[in-house]
Amino acid sequence: MHYRIMGKTGLETSLLGYGCMRFPTLENGKIDRLEATRLLLKAYENGVNYFDTAWPYHGGESERFVGEFFHTTGLRDKVYLATKLPLWAVDKLEDAERIFSEQLEHLKTDHIDFYLLHAVNAARFDKMVELGVVKLLEGYKEEGKIKNLGFSFHDSYETFERVIKYRDWDFCQIQFNYMDEDIQAGRRGYELAKDLGIPLVIMEPAKGGALTNYAPDVNRIFTDAEPDRSVASWAFRWVGSFRNVKVILSGMTKMEQLEDNLKTFDNFEPLTEEESPIVDKLVATVRSRTFNGCTGCRYCVPCPGGVEIPRVFRIWNDYGMYNNAGSAKWAYFHDMKPEARADNCLECGVCETACPQGLSIRENLKAAHSLFESLQKAE
Ligand code: SF4
Ligand code: SF4
Repeated sequence: MHYRIMGKTGLETSLLGYGCMRFPTLENGKIDRLEATRLLLKAYENGVNYFDTAWPYHGGESERFVGEFFHTTGLRDKVYLATKLPLWAVDKLEDAERIFSEQLEHLKTDHIDFYLLHAVNAARFDKMVELGVVKLLEGYKEEGKIKNLGFSFHDSYETFERVIKYRDWDFCQIQFNYMDEDIQAGRRGYELAKDLGIPLVIMEPAKGGALTNYAPDVNRIFTDAEPDRSVASWAFRWVGSFRNVKVILSGMTKMEQLEDNLKTFDNFEPLTEEESPIVDKLVATVRSRTFNGCTGCRYCVPCPGGVEIPRVFRIWNDYGMYNNAGSAKWAYFHDMKPEARADNCLECGVCETACPQGLSIRENLKAAHSLFESLQKAE
């Protein structure tokens, strides 16, 4: 296993971290504890020492399961446990106090090695500062209940800059992968954290699995170049090539995924100069599979029919790139309100006059909606 020193914390963490949000499950939706135990044991035995859970993972079961596992195996002091404060559930200081104390109980421990404000965005961060939550957690750190304090982040780069400079964080966690260099904190956020001496934990290194398997002709860009490496390994090696990345989280559900990751991280090799252009080629190929050139600039909204045009096109184009029907259906039929979907278009044409890309928005919306409906019917 490849280890890195976690910046100023001085701790040696495994570059592969276990993301405890995607354990295998039984038909009733509960964690398949037998199989998940095998996975955690194998990961530990092969040198993984960073385990990342959170209050909401597996409907609250993840923290409890992880706590029981490390308690019963007697391995608690051999690993670093990370968990997070669910900011959306905190409306007053007492909520944070209660949740933190329950988390210690769930994890059967008297301290959390890496504690994060979960899913920080501008509004949530301001609220936590106002409620005194950041001060509360700093107090817990002084008492030794928290060893390292950080935050996980989902918002714009500008907000990232404000939050990361707010105090001297021990670490922080951002989304970073070769398809999303310009999204959220992104590459600029990576550079800023590095300049500030704040080590990074990376989530979504393989974009929730989207970067582990493409259409066969796209996969071949990687597999023809290096037949012995998996498609997924390129995503992890890309992220690990950045030296201020100290832990790369992977939510491993299956033993094959864990074994493949162990192969990648045992003798970790950053991407070489010859390999980087191969990743660039794959990125260009995948991007060329979008259906239209929507940039998400939002000049076309608000729409009189209520259609969330950029959002519809993002889901449509993601489907073109990653071919993930489940994710497209969830994003369109579950995450989006019916009144924001494409079939509310009144065909007024106002959006098309505003669109700098000159897109045929009305036609594109019809095509997108009919594709999503056909995916739904194909269930
Ligand atoms: S054409 Fe349709 S999508 Fe465009 S502004 Fe009019 S109602 Fe909205
Ligand atoms: S104006 Fe055009 S490019 Fe911009 S978000 Fe709307 S559809 Fe996309």
